[in-house]
Formats: sequence, C-alpha cells, structure tokens
Amino acid sequence: MSISVRLPDGRALELPDGATGADAASVIGPGLAKAALAVSVEELGSGQPPQLRDLSWPLPDNASISILTAKDQEQALALLRHDAAHVLATAVMGLYPGVKISIGPSIENGFYYDFEFPPGVSISEADFPAIEARMAEHVKAAEPFVREDVTPQAARARFASEGQDYKVELIDDLVSAADHDEELTSVSLYTNGPFTDLCRGPHAPSTKTVGAFKLQSVAGAYWRGDSTRTMLTRIYGTAFPSKKELDEHLHRLEQAALRDHRKLGRELELFHFSDVSPGAAFWLPAGTSMFNALVSLSRQMGESRGYTEVKTPLIYDSELWKTSGHWGKYRENMFTIEAEEREMGLKPMNCPGHAHLYGSRRHSYRELPIRYSEPGLLHRNEASGVLHGLLRVRHFAQDDAHIFCTEEQVQQEVAGCLEFAFATYELFDFDVRLELSTRPEQRIGSDEMWDRAEDKLKRALREQKLDYALNPGDGAFYGPKIDMHMTDSLGRSWQLGTVQLDYSMPERFDLTYTGADNTEHRPVMIHRALFGSYERFIGIMIEHYGGEFPLWLAPVQAIVLPISDRLNEYARRVRARLRDAQIRAELDDRGESVGRKIRDAELRKLPYMLIVGEREATDGTVSLRQHRTGDIGTLTLEQTCERLRGEVARRNGRGGDS
Ligand SMILES: [Zn+2]
Ligand SMILES: [Zn+2]
Repeated sequence: MSISVRLPDGRALELPDGATGADAASVIGPGLAKAALAVSVEELGSGQPPQLRDLSWPLPDNASISILTAKDQEQALALLRHDAAHVLATAVMGLYPGVKISIGPSIENGFYYDFEFPPGVSISEADFPAIEARMAEHVKAAEPFVREDVTPQAARARFASEGQDYKVELIDDLVSAADHDEELTSVSLYTNGPFTDLCRGPHAPSTKTVGAFKLQSVAGAYWRGDSTRTMLTRIYGTAFPSKKELDEHLHRLEQAALRDHRKLGRELELFHFSDVSPGAAFWLPAGTSMFNALVSLSRQMGESRGYTEVKTPLIYDSELWKTSGHWGKYRENMFTIEAEEREMGLKPMNCPGHAHLYGSRRHSYRELPIRYSEPGLLHRNEASGVLHGLLRVRHFAQDDAHIFCTEEQVQQEVAGCLEFAFATYELFDFDVRLELSTRPEQRIGSDEMWDRAEDKLKRALREQKLDYALNPGDGAFYGPKIDMHMTDSLGRSWQLGTVQLDYSMPERFDLTYTGADNTEHRPVMIHRALFGSYERFIGIMIEHYGGEFPLWLAPVQAIVLPISDRLNEYARRVRARLRDAQIRAELDDRGESVGRKIRDAELRKLPYMLIVGEREATDGTVSLRQHRTGDIGTLTLEQTCERLRGEVARRNGRGGDS
C-alpha cells in the first residue's frame, strides 16, 4: 500500500501508507528535513482549504502538501510563537505551583498566555528574568511536542484532577457545541517536557524552534473577555527564529516608542487630551496649523478634480438614521440626545447627510456626477478602553466625499478616486498597497449587480495600471470596495483610504435623477476617503516622520533668532515679512544666547532658523540655517521667502532625515 502526494512544484511523490510530513521532507532532501517545522496539507477534492499539520501527522492519500520552514515567514512565526506560548506556560507552571492555565495563542507580533495565579501571588515585569531563564532551559532541552488524541472524558478527568478549571470548562464547551451535529469523539493534547495543554495544534517538532524570545508586558484580561468572570493575568511576549531577528524587532519597537505620537504631540505642543472629553483632541495652535494644512490640501486637490464642498448638520432626528439603517445596526456606536421629545443622534458618518442633501432637490443626468466633499465633524461612541491617542478617538473629521453618478460613470469615477489617492499619497513618500474586497456572504443586491460592480472596480484598477490583492468576501454588505494601505517609515502597515460602491443608500433614501429618456433612474453612491480621519492620519504622520515634518506640513516652518535684544526690532520685521509670505514663523526674543536659541529650535525640530545680527540688520539679510543640514548662508529677505515658498509649494514629501 502506498499513497501519492503532490508537491508545490507539481511533482508527485509516492510514499508508503502511514508516511508523515517528516517522512516526505526527508525523501525530498536532508536539508529540508532539518529545516521543516510543519506541513501544510490540502486534501484534493475535499473542498477544504489547506490545513497546517504536525510533521508527525500521517499524510492522507491524494493530497497536495507543502513543507513549512522558517522561510515561510508569517506562518512560521505564528507557529513558533504558539510554541513559545506553551514554553511560557511550562515555565510558569514550574515556578508557581497551583497556577491555573487558560489559553495562549500567537498574535500579531508575538504571543500571550493567560493565567490565574494562586491567591497572594501577583506578577510584574520584575518577575520576567526568572520566568525567561526557566523558559530558556525548556528551549535548550529541545523537548519534543507530542500530540495525543484522547476522548473528551479522559481529557476532562485529567484536567479536573489537576484543578485546571478553565481547561475543564473549555472541554465542556467543545462537547456541548459539537452535540448539535455529531458527537465529539476526541480532543488533542500536546505535551512538551512536564507540560500538557489542551490544544488544537499544530506545533513544531520541538521547543528548540523557539530560537529567541522575550517577555514584554503583563496585563489583566477577563476570562473569555467577560467582565463578570475572573480577571486573569496575561503575559505578553514575542519570539523569533534567531536572536538577530528578535533584536531587530526590539530595536524597531524602541524607535516606535521614541516616535510615539502622544509623546511627540506633547513635546511639539500639537495637541492635548483630557478626561473632561475622553477621546477628543484639544488642538494647540501648532497642531491646528498642521490640521488646516491637510484640510487645505484636500480642498485644493479636490477643487481641481470637480469636488464641491458642502456643510451638513451634526445632529439628526432618529428618522434619518432609521432610513440610513444606522439606527438598527450602528446605534450603540452613536451618541444620542433628546430635544423637544425628539430622539436625535450625532452623526458618526457623513453619508446619510449627503444622501439627504442630494435628495433635497431634483437632478438631471446632465448634473452628474455630483461630488460632495465635507471635512465634517463626526462622533463615535468608542469604549474608553480602546481609545488610543489620535489613533482611536471619539471625535474626529474625515476627508470624506460622496459621489453620486450614473451606472455608466462608475468606472471612470473610481479611476478618478484612485488617481486622486495616488497624487495625495505621493506627497508623503508612502508605498501604497491596494486590496479589492468582493461580495460578502451577507449582502444585498443580485449576483448580477455584484458581477457588474466588481468588474467595474477591476477595470478601473487595470486602467490605472495598478496592482492589487484580492480580498474575497470582505466587501461591505452594500457593495465592493478598494482599500488603500500604506507602509510607514517604521515598516508598519496602515489602512488609510477607501473607495466603496454603494447600491443600498440610494435605494433607502429613494434617490433619483432624470435620465436622457426623461424617466427616473437610481444613481450609484461612491464613498471615498483618502486620509481616513485627519486625527488618525496626523497621529500616523507624527510617527512616520518622527516629528520632523516636511516644510509644507510643519506646524512652525521657521523661527527668527536675533543674537541680541537690540536686534529684536529688525527680527520682528523679518517675522512679519515671513508671515506676509504665508510662512508659519515664530520669533525667539528671549534674552538667551544665540547658541541656546539654536539648540532649542533644533530640539523642536523646526525646519528653518533665520539668525539675525548687526550686519544682517544693516544689509536687510538673514543668516539661514536648516534643521540637520546646518548653515546655508546669507540671503536677502526676498531670497529667503522665495526659497521657503518654493519648497512649500512643491510639497516635497521628505521630512528632516527620512
Ligand atoms: Zn496551544
Ligand atoms: Zn460614506
């Protein structure tokens, strides 16, 4: 008896019946056998997606397999971090007798494990070295991960006898969840060294795979995220195949911490947060300048692309939200108020207001497309626990626009949005990645409508010669969408812009236009934002540039530094001249030495310093100095203004050192 499996290069491999992934790897080559971590198995014809399995898993006949090694970065990292979570639990069980274990998955950038420590024991980062030392012993011992499939009853009895209540509860839940279809006959246990966990797997062959790891933080977490249940202790860590990769990751984290927008926002006096209004930024003058610079950019670029700005109310009767569907689906995220016994809601999005505005008058096909834009104020009732600086707020504005167009205009409008997006992102030196999200399971509209809509987005992408990844099933229920992701200077990915086709809202608001045939037709609505929220975008920008903004975006663009008090009068004239040229300029007229003034301006990362002494005052010049670059030379006031104006107008994307 033998089985046949197919390899990624299409070759077929004959193996004896019962052969495992490890056997397949050694037939392919000794190098691969050594590097193998797990095996991805797709049973051909089963209709099931590939499953990652232990190397010791007997391969089924007629399967397509691929051996996982550290080269398959994302999957391998997730696997070894799950291994690391087990190693963490092994160490904690050894060090703290009586500790109860719950769950320990891999997560983005690392892993965690949740524990209930015995009464009187509390864990802090000070305990990490001891736990890490114990973990290192288990890694060094290269303990094999051994899988065992047992009946749920046997597993339950085992964990119950060890006082592991959380595991018992998990098994009970597995059993009752399975009862509906067919009885659960087995659960899997993984053992490494002295530790056994209830776990689906898979795991690498041994703990040795956890090449380098570090515990990072400790936090409280409710069992099953339920605030009525026990508060457990969650220990977070990260792991990599090698020390070098771990060190690089930790270095990136340090850099990110230095650039934390909350820290820089305070230091550069951009904004302030207070518990008097959770999740809402108080913008200081410098931050407001940045905010306004972005709003003007969006306005200016929109105007030349046929966008018209509108202003719509903040507060609407619940009737509008019922029409838009928000009252049913989104109400928990809205702030509501009562006025004259009418229930009102603060807008969490601009779309219903724009749809209402469009519907307030008759439209002819000749007017379309209509492109309404509005940096409208929005409120979303986010739980206070998830608020995070500017990145997650309750009060914000978006560079929001809604296009109302005919079915025939959709493709061209989407292409226009993409052109607008790339023209915008180019200013910030971003690498942009596009994702096309198609019909989800829960959706409105016919398959034919979806075919057409998806096809239009694809054509628009092709027309702009853009590469994109397909994200099947992730569209909105009302239409497909294109999401735009950018990678920042720290290598982190952010979703910024979106272009969404909407066939639902025009229906709900009964929007129409009169066609050339003199009958009423339904327009298509396109939702489009490029920055997303201005608040979040500024937060990302602060970290992307590390506070060293390109000149056009810098909150303070230049500072005038007189070398003595006697020159303050001339210095004021210089500042006035800069301000006339629309340069955001400050004056440092403190009685400090010029050396000190320069140092302070450098610390504030101000792009330009204009130093004025006796000679400059007599000649009507300044001595120009650029942040990080140093002295540029003596220029007349005219030359200085021209230089700075030119740089602002070019909107060069490069910040100080990036
Ligand atoms: Zn596990
Ligand atoms: Zn919208």
